[in-house]
Amino acid sequence: MILLKNVFLNNKVCDILIDGNHLAQIADLIDMPEAQVIDCRGKAILPSFCNTHTHASMMFLRGIGEDKNLFDWLNQDIFPREAKLKPEHIYPLSRYAILEMIKTGTTCFTDMYFYIPGTIKAVEDMGIRGIIPYLGMDFFDDQKTEESIREGIAHIKSPHTNERITKALCCHSVYTCSQKLIQTFSDLAKKYDTYLQIHVSETQKEVDDCIQKFGCRPVELLYQWGVMGPKTLFAHAVHLNDDEIALIKKTGTTLAHCPTSNLKLGSGQMGLQKYLDAGLNLTLGTDGVSSNNSLSMISEMKLAALSAKNKANSVLAGKVDDIFDIATKNGFEAFSIKAGEIKEGNLADFILVDMNNQFLLPNNNLQSNMIYAADSSCITDVFCNGKPVMTNKVIPHEKEIIAGFKDVCAALKK
Ligand SMILES: [Zn+2]
Repeated sequence: MILLKNVFLNNKVCDILIDGNHLAQIADLIDMPEAQVIDCRGKAILPSFCNTHTHASMMFLRGIGEDKNLFDWLNQDIFPREAKLKPEHIYPLSRYAILEMIKTGTTCFTDMYFYIPGTIKAVEDMGIRGIIPYLGMDFFDDQKTEESIREGIAHIKSPHTNERITKALCCHSVYTCSQKLIQTFSDLAKKYDTYLQIHVSETQKEVDDCIQKFGCRPVELLYQWGVMGPKTLFAHAVHLNDDEIALIKKTGTTLAHCPTSNLKLGSGQMGLQKYLDAGLNLTLGTDGVSSNNSLSMISEMKLAALSAKNKANSVLAGKVDDIFDIATKNGFEAFSIKAGEIKEGNLADFILVDMNNQFLLPNNNLQSNMIYAADSSCITDVFCNGKPVMTNKVIPHEKEIIAGFKDVCAALKK
């Protein structure tokens, strides 16, 4: 057992007992001699972040192909470089990505990338949670469709290795994947009671091309194909009309909002407040560092709030509580993980922040400070599943992780 002594929670000081992987008790004073005591004076506890859309191993592409739109960026800069990737590169790349996630307070992420055994091992070793899907992308080639289906089945049927890892499926998009692949993955996700993720309506071009090819918009198409539902996650969903918003609401489909990536690639600006008002399940993601160029959910929250206000032309859009929820509680809820709020019975996934850090003073509103003022220097400790993954800003093996990452970057430059 671990006892957090004198920690600041909801504007008062209390003690919190961690038993195994969950928050067992929260009270003014807890006396538990057998527990390992952590002195938390001057620190506040907050839920950790859940990053619901990223491509962890794209770390080596940070700073590549700047100032281009999504399609030029993908075809000219990203796909050719990704073609050089080998399975052995993925573990060091994912480990380095998780290092950045932990430093910025994230304990759970949803990935979308290739060669997933390396990412699974990185999640296991670094101590956080991952929703790790097999990525299907067949470019409408029948042979690749069959190969993707075979490998997707093998992934979700493989024995569960770790309680922190959720095996899932994903398809890249309607412009890179066949109907057969998308529908088969959707059926498999339902059969194995897991999650399906897909990029949807990221750009106006994607919507226009879809109308030209199929006679309807991407969300309408995916609805017709039967792939929507509470365990389906649409990444981006920037360009939706009212009918599509209604379909997303009706099916309980979850959205991953990625404001930095959308603005940076000129994809557009999602109407966050309109979606919230419609009652959609909204979560927050950074997308890969190649289009962000960071995995910090702290900066993502700030941009989500400002973008929402700008899009709605209203200061009432993107309120502090809503933005904090989409970065924490909503994400964990989407994957049925009991975390994202500091309360008894929840999993012990949380961060401790230094209340004397210059960015958190004065403490008039801690959540607003975290969204608008903070950076990762405010975070001192990160816990996942009841265990510390960063203690007083120290993450085990950090030097080795950085060295391994630099070696892969050098190898991929050749
Ligand atoms: Zn993406």
